[in-house]
Amino acid sequence: MTRDYGQRTCDRCGQQITAYCPSVQTFSAIGAFLDQGRDAVLAKIIEWEGVDLPTLTQYYDHRMQPTCRVKVAFCAFCAGPLRTWRARQCMHCLRDWH
Ligand SMILES: [Zn+2]
Ligand SMILES: [Zn+2]
Repeated sequence: MTRDYGQRTCDRCGQQITAYCPSVQTFSAIGAFLDQGRDAVLAKIIEWEGVDLPTLTQYYDHRMQPTCRVKVAFCAFCAGPLRTWRARQCMHCLRDWH
């Protein structure tokens, strides 16, 4: 039984990932479990929200405690590294291409 949470683009790695996001209540309660590690946190959120593990794992690894590879982009004008791959402004030569 997998609910469809939709998709979004990960801000770090640029992959398509789940658009699932835990509720505000979950966020405020989960703080007490963070020092028990990843498995405890995942189990608690599943218990509270009934989300499936693959969806939650994707959310966790890309957004909650991100471990995905950060996508790097470079400025087309000066080849300097951009702040994020989605940046439309260069911190080095100050050009922007909105
Ligand atoms: Zn990611
Ligand atoms: Zn530049």
